[in-house]
Amino acid sequence: MAAESPPRPPPLRGGGDEEAGGFVSLGRGPAREKKKPAWARDLARSITTVDELAKVIRLTPEELEGARRAEKEGLSLRITPHYLSLVDREDPRCPIRKQVVPQAAEKVTSPGDLVDPLGEEAHTVAPHLVRRYPDRALLLATDRCAVYCRFCTRSRLVGDGGGAVPMTDLEPAMAWLEANPAVRDVILSGGDPLAMATPRIVRILERLRRIESVETIRLATRVPVALPSRITSELLAALKPLHPLWVMTHFNHPKELAPAALKGLERLADAGFPVMNQTVLLRGINDDPEVLTALFRGLVRARARPYYLLQMDPVRGTGHLRTPVSRGVEILEALQGKLSGIAIPKLVVDTPGGMGKVPLAPDYVVSRAPGRTLFRTPRGVEVEYVDP
Ligand SMILES: *Cc1c(COP(=O)(O)O)cnc(C)c1O
Repeated sequence: MAAESPPRPPPLRGGGDEEAGGFVSLGRGPAREKKKPAWARDLARSITTVDELAKVIRLTPEELEGARRAEKEGLSLRITPHYLSLVDREDPRCPIRKQVVPQAAEKVTSPGDLVDPLGEEAHTVAPHLVRRYPDRALLLATDRCAVYCRFCTRSRLVGDGGGAVPMTDLEPAMAWLEANPAVRDVILSGGDPLAMATPRIVRILERLRRIESVETIRLATRVPVALPSRITSELLAALKPLHPLWVMTHFNHPKELAPAALKGLERLADAGFPVMNQTVLLRGINDDPEVLTALFRGLVRARARPYYLLQMDPVRGTGHLRTPVSRGVEILEALQGKLSGIAIPKLVVDTPGGMGKVPLAPDYVVSRAPGRTLFRTPRGVEVEYVDP
C-alpha cells in the first residue's frame, strides 16, 4: 500500500470490482507488481497461529491448550479479520468464538466419534468425487477454507496445505461424471470453492458445463459468512453465464448476519442465485429456539432460504459441541406454527458411514385407525381427519 511511482487506479475497498481474475496485474507495463484483490488480502490477514490468536483474544487455559494442539496436529487454525470482528474478545461463551477457537476438549474422543463420519472415503468414485446418492455427487476441489470451523465434517482432509486441486487431477472426476449421466446435480465443496481464485472456479464450472447430464451445480460455501469481501461483482459477473448455480451458505448464528454478510447475500440474490442455508446445530452456540428464530428470520429477510438444520456429524473430537438428537426435534417443535414456513428448515441427520441423510420431524400423529387419523396441532388441540 506504500506510495509507488506508476499511476494506478484508485484502490477499492472490500466488495469492490478490482479483481479481474484471481490476482490481477495493474497497468500494462512489463514489470508491474501483481496486486492481490481486496478479499485475498483479507484472507492473507487471517489469524493462523496461537501467538496471533493470543494477541487478539484473551484466551482461557482450555482455549490456549486447544489452540496449541491445533497448531501441531488436528484441524488447522484460521480466522478471517471479518469473522474475528464478530468475536467477543473477553467472553469465552461467545457463539462466534466457540465456532473457530479450539478447545482442549478436541483431544477427547466421544462414543460414536469417527474420523470420516460420512464414510466419504468408501463412497469416493473417482479422485475428489464422492457419490452417495443416485443423482448427486460432491466434487471436492480444494482443501482450503476462509475459516476452519472446529466442528468440520471434513477436518480429516481440510487445511493441510494442498490448496486448489489442479485441473488435470480433477479430470478423472469429470470423466466419471461424463460416463455416469444419472448424476444431474454436482455440489462443489471442499474446502470452500469460493476461497479459490475466480479463474480457477470458472475453469471448473466451465468444464462441468461441458457435461450435458449435469444440470445444476451448487457452490457450498462459508465465504458469505467469513469473507464477505469475496462476493465481488467481478466474481458474480464471471459466474452468471454458468447458471443454474445454487449457493449453499452456512450461517449458524444471528450474529453472523453482519452488514457485510447481508450485503453479500443481497448481491448473490440480485445476481440470480437461489441461496439456501445449512445450519449445524451446535451445543451452547445455537441450540436454542430463540437464537434460531432470529437466525432464520434474518436469513429469509436476506432472501436466503433456511434449508437444513443439521444434527452435527460425529467427527472425532467434537463431542463437546454436539447435542442429543432429541434436542433438534424439540427445537423444531418450538418453531413449528410460530415461525413462517419459509423460515423453517428441514431437520436432518446424516447417518454415520455415509448411509444417507434422514429427515426428522416432531410427531403430530396421536393415533391412527383405519380411515381415521388423530392429530395434535402445534396449538395444542387434537383434531381428527377422516379419509374419504
Ligand atoms: C449432503 C450430500 C448431498 C446433498 O444432499 P441434498 O439432500 O440433496 O442436499 C449430496 N452428496 C453427498 C455426498 C452429501 O453428503
